[in-house]
Amino acid sequence: MVLSAKAMEITPSSTLAITAKAKEMRANGIDVIGFVAGEPDFDTPAHIKQSAIDAINEGFTKYTPASGIVELRKAIADKMKTEKNVNYDYTQIIVSNGGKHALTNAFNAILNPKDEVIIPSPFWLSYPQMVKLSDGVPVIVTTKKENGFKITKEEFENAITPKTKAIVINNPNNPTGMVYTRKELEDIAEVAVRKDIFIIADDMYEKLIYDGTEHICISSLNEETYKRTIVVNGLSKSYAMTGWRIGFTAAPKEISQIIANIQSHSASNINSIAQKAAYTAFTGPQECVEEMRCEFEKRKNYMVERIKNIDKISMLEPKGAFYTFINISKLLGKTIDGVEIKGAREFGEVLLNKANVAIIPCTDFGFDDHIRLSYAISLDNIKEGLDRIEKFIKENY
Ligand code: PLP
Repeated sequence: MVLSAKAMEITPSSTLAITAKAKEMRANGIDVIGFVAGEPDFDTPAHIKQSAIDAINEGFTKYTPASGIVELRKAIADKMKTEKNVNYDYTQIIVSNGGKHALTNAFNAILNPKDEVIIPSPFWLSYPQMVKLSDGVPVIVTTKKENGFKITKEEFENAITPKTKAIVINNPNNPTGMVYTRKELEDIAEVAVRKDIFIIADDMYEKLIYDGTEHICISSLNEETYKRTIVVNGLSKSYAMTGWRIGFTAAPKEISQIIANIQSHSASNINSIAQKAAYTAFTGPQECVEEMRCEFEKRKNYMVERIKNIDKISMLEPKGAFYTFINISKLLGKTIDGVEIKGAREFGEVLLNKANVAIIPCTDFGFDDHIRLSYAISLDNIKEGLDRIEKFIKENY
């Protein structure tokens, strides 16, 4: 039997594989410290949970409009206006099943077979797979450390071909934690407008931002940029709601209508109860978001100080999200316990087996000489995990 050639090209998620291995070791009684978390370690705030319980008790358990309940879409449009200074009518907001679903909707809405999508590297590993699933071609553009791993106007322009349809701008970035300045976004937008290219703006980590850094939503820059941008966002990271599966797109009317049509036939509405919880998250007290952000910032500062003082590894200070992107190039090429450390994958394997520390190799994020350490774990675990990494490096290099 012949299966879909397109589907068979899709690779499994390597982040999930290493997380599973660490879990298995823990189940076998091994004390593993995992820096692998892609989700906040905080509980969903109580008032949000309560609104979901109320929704169940009130019988809000049936189909809703496929694009989401109007009150929620209006609350999102209000948030975009007040927080991001950009106008969307509620009909331009489509509520989807997490950021992932919002992204796949966005790619499905704009791509024709063989259309190219520029993905600055390092990148969140799902983008290339999503583009392929939508019949597009991912075009990876490797960014430079001296530019904070952010794509420059020149790099963007050099990657454009007659087939270029879109660029993905992930801001703050997973895995680097870097945040684009207004000027950097203006430069990218200028090229996108001049060359008539869509911008997929993944702002999932928008609220997790440190050191007084400002987050700009690229669609707010000007009318021409707005017309070409699909903003993707959601509640997973900022409100500790990964399991609830709430994401959304904000896009020009014509694109939103297409996304609405796609979603109405593929998924229909997201869970009705989660929609009520999302409404409460957006319209209720916001202190919980700030409390979590502050805690992440404390951990980030601790990690930056510690990693600075560990020999042979280095990183740029992140300004957002909850990841550190660490250069391990000086640790490659050695053989430890019979394993040749060719890249981040082998390094991760040996570190897990010898030091009981799980990290994410950035091989599938476009950088095989970097690893990602998440600080969505307690400060105590961060301390212990970094102690182990420091000791491992001292003893083996
Ligand atoms: N975009 C980025 C950059 C992410 O890191 C993630 C999740 O890890 C998502 C989107 C997807 O978020 P969700 O869990 O809401 O699907």
